[in-house]
Amino acid sequence: MSFVRLIYASRATVEFQPSSIQSILQAARKNNSQNYITGLLCFNQRGFLQCLEGKRFEVNRTFQRILKDPRHENVEIISFQYSEKREFESWNMGYLQNNQIMRDLLMRHTGSAEFLPLTLIPEDAFAILKDIRAMMEEVAAEEA
Ligand code: FAD
Repeated sequence: MSFVRLIYASRATVEFQPSSIQSILQAARKNNSQNYITGLLCFNQRGFLQCLEGKRFEVNRTFQRILKDPRHENVEIISFQYSEKREFESWNMGYLQNNQIMRDLLMRHTGSAEFLPLTLIPEDAFAILKDIRAMMEEVAAEEA
């Protein structure tokens, strides 16, 4: 078993301000590339859903750092799996807009148009992350 994939959800606290996005992005880009962590962090003003993939030691070390971050609370592991291959080739972060495309995506997977990461079951959480990654890739391809 080469890799582990950890998916967790959490709730944003009052310390999560617009400026936090840039500082989380900067720290995560630097640390995750150094530690060969891939995955995706999706968020809106209220909550987070993140997948971290990599070697077990690195994923655990990263998650322990994230757990202590006061910008979120109620951190719950949704799934922890061993895998022979990564699903995500890089690490990325995306703000979930409350638009029709996103509402349709959430409705398709959960039966609710709202982003409620702490209520997700493992299969839906993974499927949502993969669909959002695909959407982000489409947008990036259109912009290129
Ligand atoms: P530094 O480089 O010293 O700090 C990193 C940056 O975070 C700095 O700009 C610092 O000012 C800022 N910062 C730290 N705590 C706070 C705070 N309470 N309020 C405001 N700014 C603060 N880190 C990762 O490495 N990988 C991840 O995938 C990742 N995902 C995250 C997901 C979520 C939902 C959250 C809330 C945080 C995430 N982080 C992630 C950030 C992580 O919690 C640590 O802040 C970061 O890893 C520390 O990095 P560093 O040791 O290099 O510290």
